[in-house]
Amino acid sequence: MGPMIVGHSHPDVLQAVCDAAANGLSFGAPTAREVEMADLLTELIPSMDMVRLTSSGTEATMSAIRLARGYTGRSKIIKFEGCYHGHSDSLLVKAGSGALTFGQPSSAGVPPELAAYTIVLEYNAPQPLVDTFAQWGDQIAAVIVEPVVGNMNLIAPRTEFLQTMREVCTRYGAVLIFDEVMTGFRVALGGAQALYEITPDISTFGKVIGGGMPVGAFGGRRDIMEQLAPLGPVYQAGTLSGNPVAVAAGLATLKLIQVPGFHQRLDDTARQLTEGLVAMAGKHGISFSAQHVGGMFGLYFRAQVPQTYDEVTECDKEAFNRFFHAMLDEGIYFAPSAFEAGFVSAAHGTTEIEATLAAADRVFVKMAA
Ligand SMILES: *Cc1c(COP(=O)(O)O)cnc(C)c1O
Repeated sequence: MGPMIVGHSHPDVLQAVCDAAANGLSFGAPTAREVEMADLLTELIPSMDMVRLTSSGTEATMSAIRLARGYTGRSKIIKFEGCYHGHSDSLLVKAGSGALTFGQPSSAGVPPELAAYTIVLEYNAPQPLVDTFAQWGDQIAAVIVEPVVGNMNLIAPRTEFLQTMREVCTRYGAVLIFDEVMTGFRVALGGAQALYEITPDISTFGKVIGGGMPVGAFGGRRDIMEQLAPLGPVYQAGTLSGNPVAVAAGLATLKLIQVPGFHQRLDDTARQLTEGLVAMAGKHGISFSAQHVGGMFGLYFRAQVPQTYDEVTECDKEAFNRFFHAMLDEGIYFAPSAFEAGFVSAAHGTTEIEATLAAADRVFVKMAA
């Protein structure tokens, strides 16, 4: 799922966790390490003047939405079909059927009345965004987006889509939330916002920043963040937020990934893997494509790389299932769904990639037969 960017049980991370644990597991108060973490996050992500830690990505996005609503005094939000932002009620919403503008719950237990505040639009399509703002602009608190989607397989953003989003949010006074729980510190040290040079108002993080322990964060512009209690009226708190042991794992991980060349190596590894798989599938006449953005990759049983939700649903799920299970039999564990992105870590090198490609060669032979 993406947190283990330096691989499992890295000695530096384990040492940091053990040292922190020896000093106490939890204090219910901010700790020095939490402040150190906040300083580092605001330094690495220049769009964040202030940041607050949570214990998961879900809490980070849920709190970011509440903050945006409190800041703007508006209730509606926009999300995109196929993006996942954790399991809070407002975000477990899918597109309404037919001409319905407002979303419907994508899980039992989410009140339809609440889901109706979430407008669900098509990813990578600038025009619906413009049209929706033209109609509801003064009621929209926020747009939340995965700047590179990793939850409907990997979908890369069209630059124009992100730019339009930034423009309409600014024009109508809505808060632009980049959900970088997956892309943060992974597609580049500065996240997708650095890679695509778009400045969001609020960013959310998780996964990599905990290095395998429960840490999330949300942060952004000072005037927005100052609306949070105790400075402002928007409530947010968590007994275990900024937990000293979890933060120790995160800090140790963030230290390791700041080594110059770290992300370039991840990028190289992901390229070697995806290009290798495409060549291998081509050799066996299997309809297959792949791409990567930094250390994130997508594999598609489809001739061309998809750019939209509709295109990704055209992938051959049956072929993916056969590939997944046959690779698992070979001892190689890919993300267990045709609709999840994959990740490489610093522990993956040429040896691992070559072994993976050799296994894929055997699997594609069987699939072609
Ligand atoms: C994983 C994920 C979340 C939720 O994070 P959890 O820590 O699982 O609650 C939110 N947004 C995105 C983009 C994610 O990939």
